[in-house]
Amino acid sequence: MKEEILELEKRALGEIGSTLDPSELETLRIRYLGKKGLLTSMMKKVGCLPPDERPGVGKLANLVKKNLSARFKETRDSLGSGRVDVGTTFDVTLPGREPVYGHLHPITLVIKEVCGIFTRMGFRVVKGPNVELDYYNFEALNIPRDHPARDMQDTFYISENVVLRTHTSPIQVRVMETRKPPVSVIAPGKVYRRDSDVSHTPMFHQVEGLLVDRGVSFGDLKGTLTSFVRQMFGSRTRLRFRPSFFPFTEPSAEVDILCVLCGGKGCRTCSQTGWLEILGSGMVDPEVYRFVDYDADKYTGFAFGMGIERIAMLKYGIDDIQLFFRNDIRFLRQF
Ligand SMILES: [Zn+2]
Repeated sequence: MKEEILELEKRALGEIGSTLDPSELETLRIRYLGKKGLLTSMMKKVGCLPPDERPGVGKLANLVKKNLSARFKETRDSLGSGRVDVGTTFDVTLPGREPVYGHLHPITLVIKEVCGIFTRMGFRVVKGPNVELDYYNFEALNIPRDHPARDMQDTFYISENVVLRTHTSPIQVRVMETRKPPVSVIAPGKVYRRDSDVSHTPMFHQVEGLLVDRGVSFGDLKGTLTSFVRQMFGSRTRLRFRPSFFPFTEPSAEVDILCVLCGGKGCRTCSQTGWLEILGSGMVDPEVYRFVDYDADKYTGFAFGMGIERIAMLKYGIDDIQLFFRNDIRFLRQF
């Protein structure tokens, strides 16, 4: 009987040593030391032995039980660290779950793309304040207090002389105030107007461009914007310059591209005209130079501005501007 017990101990120790899983270890423990375990049933037989053999075999059996219990505990502790608890199934053969990566907002993507195109043409990115003085937002852009052009914009007033900027054009004035020509800058940023429907939000984004130097002509404006449009919407994009009016440019032109949805046949997006307006532009009005102390006889330049949401909507085929700011993850994941 003693040999049997020692043989069982040897087998148990070998099996414990090759176990890597806590639940497997527990099964093993029950098999040897459980109520109906191998060692337990062997110990029950001790009572049937001749009286002179009982003490020796009983002592050995108890020693083996103590020894095995200690080894089970020791192994369970070492497996427990960094492993799943007993009772939890963990299938290591399952394919891994890929983490969801975040990415840039579609508006940020378009701003980066627009700025990228212009910086490659030599423009420098500049920024200006969101809360702006009336002077920069209107007056220095040739929009005096009683000018009817102020009706074109629904302004958020902070106080009589402080507004949330209604366009990125005040940055033009700030740049010209601090730098002498030649200047060529591109200024992205948030702008604010009291307006909200499927094509307007109270806050939206614009990018403003300005180039002033000696001998800059309307031809330079056309060339620069044509190059931009073709890089943004594709090399075959047709565009047209349509006469328009802005208080701070003269002459002024709006740029239309052939409708990206109907190809010029006419649809709801282009109001059946076949064309989509994408930006406003013009030669800087000499009146503006007066405010920044530039010599209008020596320098000429052009300026342009565009709404980023509008560009993004055309580029990605989105029909509701509010989607950009609802933070709906199902919408944002598509970019
Ligand atoms: Zn159309």
